[in-house]
Amino acid sequence: MISQEVSIADIIHKQRAFFKTGKTKDINFRLEQLKTLKQAVTEHKEAIISALKADLNKPEFESYATEIGAIQEINYAIKHIKTWTKPQKTPVSLQFFPASASIYPEPLGVVLIIGPWNYPFNLIISPLIGAIAAGNCAILKPSELAPNTSRLLSEIIEQSFEPAYITVIEGGVQTSQQLLAEKFDHIFFTGGTAVGKIVMEAAAKNLTPVTLELGGKSPCIVDSDINIKHTARRITWGKFLNAGQTCIAPDYLLVDTKIKENLLNEIQKCLQEFYGENPESSSDYARIINQKHFDRLTHFLKEGKVRIGGETNSSELYIAPTVLEDVSLTDLVMQEEIFGPILPVIEYTNISEAIDLVNSKSKPLALYFFSNNKNLQQQVLQETSSGGVCINDTVIQVAVSSLPFGGVGDSGIGKYHGKSSFDTFSHYKSVLHNSFWLDLKLRYAPYKDKLSTLKRFIG
Ligand code: NAD
Repeated sequence: MISQEVSIADIIHKQRAFFKTGKTKDINFRLEQLKTLKQAVTEHKEAIISALKADLNKPEFESYATEIGAIQEINYAIKHIKTWTKPQKTPVSLQFFPASASIYPEPLGVVLIIGPWNYPFNLIISPLIGAIAAGNCAILKPSELAPNTSRLLSEIIEQSFEPAYITVIEGGVQTSQQLLAEKFDHIFFTGGTAVGKIVMEAAAKNLTPVTLELGGKSPCIVDSDINIKHTARRITWGKFLNAGQTCIAPDYLLVDTKIKENLLNEIQKCLQEFYGENPESSSDYARIINQKHFDRLTHFLKEGKVRIGGETNSSELYIAPTVLEDVSLTDLVMQEEIFGPILPVIEYTNISEAIDLVNSKSKPLALYFFSNNKNLQQQVLQETSSGGVCINDTVIQVAVSSLPFGGVGDSGIGKYHGKSSFDTFSHYKSVLHNSFWLDLKLRYAPYKDKLSTLKRFIG
């Protein structure tokens, strides 16, 4: 362990020295590095798919769409970096004439990015894109619970970048804590709310700013004024993608009593259409990450009544896509983030009951609302708070680069994706530029006869 501590300190020292050379401030250098990252991901597609298969039995389609899809974020950064990095002029009021004002984005320095296991590739690469675009050096700590992806990330990064610029440090909780004990210029953490608090506490000791991309219980409210087939398909897809191990998966359903039966029947049909009679033998259905999470999830199956699914296979870490009804709000499945293929269903008769329930819980990362009714859409938007909202669909909001992605309250601090990633890893330096040709004496002592003029200015 001591040797790792030494090497962590050594790596940070080398990155600080590299940052000091000013190389990363060059926009062309950043562009080159983004292109190098894109090429590295492109060249390793097959290996990425294999690693994700080994870690999560992730279907190739899902690996492409949700992990290798990070290439689109790289393209977006490459396209916009020149605009993002330009200093922005800002207006100055007359009393400061002839000064001008600008805002200069500048890199923060050496940043730490800690990732989770559920999208273990994307959730390291996506923040890294922002860190590179903004001109930082970065240390990446992937999740030890997805060891194949962690190793591959380490290899890809080592082949593509100087360790003094970007490097991977593999390891578990202890390594993470050793890293957190060091001073960084920013820590970008994706993971659970409990660990988020540990990260923030450690960061506070060094006054390191943090971005915390956390989780929570994202509700999915379904009104009766909907296209039921599309609604069922979109919910089934968003919930059971990656076997429910998605931070913005619909955690629980709040459904208008009038359409509950129809909706659940449609969800059942979708499950058959997506994964066949036996999802265990479907190549399109992922597995639970490990035994600990399998045990945690199977505990939830004892609550409420299984309406669809419920089958498990411990040796395969398989849990069937499951819908639970008759759950109580005090059941654990309605108290904790589920983060697996289990969907509890609660009925409501009036939208305000659904809104009250959502508001009785911590602010979620995402909120889904299905309805054609514009007034109800407005009501839900205005009366609830969540990291983001997606109306009449699930999960796809995360892939829109122009939408900042992040939580609020217990679901996180800070935002990223697209320009927000650049902002997160930049300091916006305010610069006021005065000139010598005019020097009014109004502000200088003696103040005696100047107070009335000041009063006229300020009002
Ligand atoms: P986690 O918090 O257990 O682990 C995340 C990272 O923190 C890992 O790299 C791990 O090594 C490290 N870590 C774990 N315990 C630690 C400790 N005590 N001290 C320091 N570091 C520690 O999260 P997870 O289980 O990998 O991921 C699941 C959680 O992440 C869910 O809550 C999910 O909602 C959330 N998540 C959020 C997003 C998002 O974008 N907001 C995305 C994916 C996952």
